[in-house]
Amino acid sequence: MEEHCGIIGIFSNEGHNVVPMLLLGLESLQHRGQEAWGIAIHGKQPYKRTGLVSQSIEREPAEIARLSGHVGIGHVRYSTTSTSTLENAHPLEIGVASDKKGFCIAHNGTLERELLTEALKEEGCASCGVTDTALMGRGLYENLRQGKSWVEAFEALNPYLNGAFSTVILTSEEELVSARDERGFRPLCIGWHEETCSYVLASESCALDAIGARLLRDIQPGELVRVNKGGLVEERFSVQERHAHCPFEYTYFAHPSSRIEGISVYAARKNIGRILAEGYGFEGDVVVPVPDSARPAALGYSEKSGIPFEEGLMKDRYKKKGSWRSFIEPEKREEVVSNITAIKDAVNGKRLILIDDSIVRGTSSRIIVEKKLKEAKEVSLLLTFPPIMYPCYMGIDFPTQEELLAYRVCGTTAKSLDEINRKVAENIGVAFLGYNNIEGLSKGIGIPKDQLCLSCATGDYSCIRRKPKFKTRKEMKR
Ligand code: SF4
Repeated sequence: MEEHCGIIGIFSNEGHNVVPMLLLGLESLQHRGQEAWGIAIHGKQPYKRTGLVSQSIEREPAEIARLSGHVGIGHVRYSTTSTSTLENAHPLEIGVASDKKGFCIAHNGTLERELLTEALKEEGCASCGVTDTALMGRGLYENLRQGKSWVEAFEALNPYLNGAFSTVILTSEEELVSARDERGFRPLCIGWHEETCSYVLASESCALDAIGARLLRDIQPGELVRVNKGGLVEERFSVQERHAHCPFEYTYFAHPSSRIEGISVYAARKNIGRILAEGYGFEGDVVVPVPDSARPAALGYSEKSGIPFEEGLMKDRYKKKGSWRSFIEPEKREEVVSNITAIKDAVNGKRLILIDDSIVRGTSSRIIVEKKLKEAKEVSLLLTFPPIMYPCYMGIDFPTQEELLAYRVCGTTAKSLDEINRKVAENIGVAFLGYNNIEGLSKGIGIPKDQLCLSCATGDYSCIRRKPKFKTRKEMKR
């Protein structure tokens, strides 16, 4: 079971109740996970519910209104390799009932469970939980019980933390602790909320904007911060020159209003669209984005090429599940795509340059082309992300190679990007298909490629501790 989520933690130095801000922040991070959510406030059982934050607020306003505290953490979750249960929703309690070293933890990322299990066996701890987060929590807890400080606990466990983690922790001593893995796969930032004198830690700066907090900076890879009555303490548990920020955050996952590593996600997407126009300049009548994440890239393509932009596909926002994102919930993909409507006046009879963020499994793209755009004269599809040939073990949900369309169609022996473009175009049913390349992706985002992860495009997993053993979905469920 993997966790790929959004996190938030708030500490008010002046004792203000932070729960309303936690809720607002979580709502703004809802694009990162929609299966379950939870918050933990000192001295109370974590409050966890399935579904969206807004649904719980509607259903249980009185219960939520009773939650109050000046320090707390929150989490929105999605997982797709097992059923979503409240037990696995975050924040998780680790050793809270046993002693003062207990804490609640919320995690965004994925960690290899086997390596953590080995570490815990060395500590004499045989059964420590089924999720990566529970194992990491237990590992930290064992180190804290030995008298280590938080930064020492992360330092000691770090060799066994294989993968990605951005995490917020609420300690039994009402301290907020937050750490980001040494490569910086997943985003994590800190802000300041003036009115309540609060430090706010969040997956993305859009959560700070939502509550009126100011972005101070990104938490650095390998950094740990603690917030308590004494203020902010900044420490390091690891220093690595080679960072591995996930470009998928910029092209798809993060909110376009967020800034990550000082870079506007919106601007990065638009830049990538301009780069696609430079690399794939051809004739067309209109540029159309696949809603919603490809919209800035389509704008960039249109600006650079001079071909008019049209909202040829629209999501129906008023259907109950209109906000579901097709990548997050594969089993609901057809339903999500059915919420996309083609604007006939904009697409019928036209040569479309369709822009999408990526192709993972290809299901949505095929349905859009076959069902929604069948009256178009011609469809050319351009992708902001390079061909995805290898699984992700660092927090984005495509953990098996068998599900990846580019791999299924081309294997890993394709000789050139042109060959991949041609084969995938045939499979999707478009006249032409063009993937971005790694150089274009890196240039568009504005981060050198040796500071990006890219494992899913290259198969090079040197940014994690050991190469993962690829498994099938069936094997993963066992
Ligand atoms: S493997 Fe791909 S999706 Fe996963 S962290 Fe790396 S770049 Fe991002």
